[in-house]
Amino acid sequence: MPGKSMSQPPQSGTRPVNALTTVSAPSHQGWLEQTLQLALTHRQQGGRPFAALLVRDNQLVASAVNRMLEAGDPTRHAELEALRTASQHGPLKGAVVYASGHPCPMCLCALVMNGISAVYYAFDNEDAAPFGFDSSAAYAALRLPLSPPPLPLIKLPSPIPAAALYGPQSHD
Ligand SMILES: [Zn+2]
Repeated sequence: MPGKSMSQPPQSGTRPVNALTTVSAPSHQGWLEQTLQLALTHRQQGGRPFAALLVRDNQLVASAVNRMLEAGDPTRHAELEALRTASQHGPLKGAVVYASGHPCPMCLCALVMNGISAVYYAFDNEDAAPFGFDSSAAYAALRLPLSPPPLPLIKLPSPIPAAALYGPQSHD
């Protein structure tokens, strides 16, 4: 930014970087934390505690939350909502999805079929199971092994515990 004072020593983001690296763009962890914040806000507003972002070339294309309760439609998972919105704005192939929770088989299928390159998520089925928000039963019923995964499925550290997102809310 023009006119910015440089009275402090440079910190991260001011090192010389290779061409095409966008220094100011969020990291995977940064995108995931935005996703978690969206899920938390949605839960506090009475929705189901799931959110997803679709990012292409490190640019946000779509952000979405789970609309099952509002729509009375069990297919309105956050990842599918993000795919629907993003498909209005360009190709999906090669995009990255950030999800608050590990995708269920329905969403994972749609992500694979549309060429999503990787999924980063915060909470896996084991984290979600104590709160009834896991999709382990569906994976077992479909006999879908996730080893090896059909696309990179990467769990990142969460700044909040699973209970903060999935546990009882203060107004319950
Ligand atoms: Zn799903």
